[in-house]
Amino acid sequence: MAHKFSFYNTLDRRVEEFTPREEGKVSMYTCGPTVYHYAHIGNIRTYIMQDVLIKALAYAGYDVKRVMNITDVGHLSSDADTGEDKMLAGAKREHKTVMEIAKYYTDAFFADFDAVGNKRPDVIEPATNCIPEFINMVETLLKKGYAYVAGGNVYFDTSKLKDYYVFSSEVEKEALQVGVRDDVQEDANKKNKTDFVLWFTKSKFEDQALKWDSPWGVGYPGWHIECSCISMKHLGEYIDIHCGGVDNIFPHHTNEIAQSESYLGHEWCKYWFHSNHLNDKSGKMSKSKGAILTVSLLKEKGYDPLVYRFFCLQSHYRKPLEFSYEALDQAVAAYNKLVKRASELKEDGAVDEKVKKEFEEKFADAVCGDLNTSMATTVLYDALKADTNDATKLALVESFDKVLSLDLIGHAKALSQDADVDPELEKFILDAIERRAQAKKNKDFATADAIRAELLEKGVEIKDTREGVKWQLI
Ligand SMILES: [Zn+2]
Repeated sequence: MAHKFSFYNTLDRRVEEFTPREEGKVSMYTCGPTVYHYAHIGNIRTYIMQDVLIKALAYAGYDVKRVMNITDVGHLSSDADTGEDKMLAGAKREHKTVMEIAKYYTDAFFADFDAVGNKRPDVIEPATNCIPEFINMVETLLKKGYAYVAGGNVYFDTSKLKDYYVFSSEVEKEALQVGVRDDVQEDANKKNKTDFVLWFTKSKFEDQALKWDSPWGVGYPGWHIECSCISMKHLGEYIDIHCGGVDNIFPHHTNEIAQSESYLGHEWCKYWFHSNHLNDKSGKMSKSKGAILTVSLLKEKGYDPLVYRFFCLQSHYRKPLEFSYEALDQAVAAYNKLVKRASELKEDGAVDEKVKKEFEEKFADAVCGDLNTSMATTVLYDALKADTNDATKLALVESFDKVLSLDLIGHAKALSQDADVDPELEKFILDAIERRAQAKKNKDFATADAIRAELLEKGVEIKDTREGVKWQLI
């Protein structure tokens, strides 16, 4: 029996107890990145909170299958199908081909995604892999009367739905007003303002790089259709949870539901999970405002990406979070204290299973109760202070890390290794590093290499970094 699990379902606008369609199993879909630029730390916050969600579900006893798309075609600069094609704009900006841009930014995305301790989805599918599936869905929507061809493009007809605004008509209508204001130009082919493109053939992008044959002419898919198709391709006609950032609620998720349920003829996904923005002092983080703050950039500045994860875990996913270096520095101090505390724990006998179970229950209550991650870290602090032996505490740190993924034990081991080094050996190492630096200065690379080899023989590995030479015992 899985632990009771609840979270805020945007569709019903309240915290609800979660019940999957199939007992013990969860199918989940995540909207992936549009790979035309770097993902900023606000985007990564969304993926950290989704990672906590899947790991908390696993902690509760569920078997989770998760699918994510990579948007490498069809996403225009306004989510409402107007403006520039994001991929094309990226390629022009950097004088590269669209596929080069897609590859480069997909790799950059996963480097940051992995660095913050996230588990990769079971299936990751680029949109350009699924063109026949998109065409098939558009054909069915036309046949069923939910779509129309105008000016060479295929549009979804939102007036055919009883209830288009499924999340909250107030929120959605407001977002639509903003969208209309931002529109570069109104699309005269649309019958209704909320109609959206399923397939483009005639567009203002004459030099669109990626085009495919279709029954409506050579063209490319709209953005929303890809998530519906990729989800159905790998997870079937029903999914339990669909995830995204609050920005995706309208129009993207609203449109995904419109086309999926019209195509299927039944309800598609019961639970919708959305996490909130990351702000800085000037407001919501975005890619259009100057330099993009990425996890890699934080790393270059000397911050451990897991400290950024820890910083995110201290606040609730439904609240906007304000980023500042002062706040991040506080997270560094708190994280280092935790690592130090963990490094002092010794394997001192048998684990007290009763105490372990009690704490695990408290921890599960926190993470399975609308992802209360700050409460979960409090349970971790309490466990470290508890009146029990070190072996039990170590077992608890390891257990909680299945969800928190802060690698406290790994960091603690590195710390205690440093502290355990024999002072004589340390003196020898520092002396050797100095001799090597001198040899390199004299361009005597043979000697420099020989010193490196000599250290390696003693079990010491050295690395040249921007902050100087670092060494560690291997
Ligand atoms: Zn999506």
